[in-house]
Amino acid sequence: MFGRKKSDSGDSDGFEGRLIGWRRHIHTHPELSYEETETTDYIDGELRSMGLEPTRFRIGTGLWCDVPAADGATATDVVALRADIDALAMSEDSGEPFASEVDGVAHTCGHDGHTAMLLGAAEMLVADPPPRPVRLIFQPAEETMPGGAKDCVEEGVVEGVDRIIALHCDPHRRVGEVGVTGGAITSSNAKIGITVHSDGGHTARPHETQDTVFALAQIVTGVTAVVDRTIDPRSGTVLTWASVKAGGTAPNVIPDSGQLWGTLRSADRDVWAVAEPVVREAVEAIARTYGVRAEVDYVQGVPPVVNDDTCADLAAAAVEQVLGPDGVGPAVQSSGGEDFAWYTEEIPGVYLRLGVWDGESEETDLHHPGFVLDEAALPHGARILDAFARLDRPAG
Ligand SMILES: [Zn+2]
Ligand SMILES: [Zn+2]
Repeated sequence: MFGRKKSDSGDSDGFEGRLIGWRRHIHTHPELSYEETETTDYIDGELRSMGLEPTRFRIGTGLWCDVPAADGATATDVVALRADIDALAMSEDSGEPFASEVDGVAHTCGHDGHTAMLLGAAEMLVADPPPRPVRLIFQPAEETMPGGAKDCVEEGVVEGVDRIIALHCDPHRRVGEVGVTGGAITSSNAKIGITVHSDGGHTARPHETQDTVFALAQIVTGVTAVVDRTIDPRSGTVLTWASVKAGGTAPNVIPDSGQLWGTLRSADRDVWAVAEPVVREAVEAIARTYGVRAEVDYVQGVPPVVNDDTCADLAAAAVEQVLGPDGVGPAVQSSGGEDFAWYTEEIPGVYLRLGVWDGESEETDLHHPGFVLDEAALPHGARILDAFARLDRPAG
């Protein structure tokens, strides 16, 4: 049996039941990014019933609040615990009796679980006040680019905070194991839109105009080649096109415009910071060669989340307190993006992967209509957050 924190001993069934209740309520009533109004109201009500006084973010959804330190506590370093609260624009096909009641919106990334676990941690911290102030961040709009975390950081939510932690559900890891590692754990993601303009004309006379379709095709392969030849391949950088559009009116008409969309991802924070001019210059050079005019819309997304080594050690200690030494597992860097990076750009932090697979059912994936999580993981997450908040940073 996994370890249990003393602060909720004797009330385990009630505590687990409340975690499940919170999670299922939010799961049944999912809301999209920046539209989490009822979810925010719900969290606000639960925190107030614990005696806390949350503050809403000025962007309109999401909230944060501080749990004061125990009377007489001398530690002044503030620890932040973060959950994301938004759902995805997709349908759910989990077969759960508490499945989404909102058409086309579903909690298929487990943020309902993240929110419930942070409410659970809040309850534990209120019941047994921590040795230092703890900030709870219920953040909106993780599933957008560049992400709600950027808004929250700009509103000052990490001012005065010493370190921060977040957990993400991992449906490919058994309940009872948590992935912990120092260093980069997610990848960066930039969104690229390119529009090419020409005078258009007859396909019989491409030399008298500018060939939009040919130029677009050159950009598709040429820019990708320039990225591959100028950025260190060990950085795990990949430019992938998702959409190419041009023409469509007749087989003998050169269209006067065309568009490309794609993403550029990198496992390396330094590449995230310098890739934009590489892409812009390559597009402009190819466009110039074929005489077309190109506009580049480069939306800089999140950098990689880089886990601080000291925070990772503290998190491993917290996991070990809750789940024993076997609970600490390895974690590899994902090629996906995560807006928790906006916090770790500002302050040291750690992002963990919480096992939510029951070990028997067919494995499901995040962002999949059939995504399910084993609710036995919820108390683990709540207790790990609570334990992390109580651990002292090593001296020196
Ligand atoms: Zn997601
Ligand atoms: Zn997520």
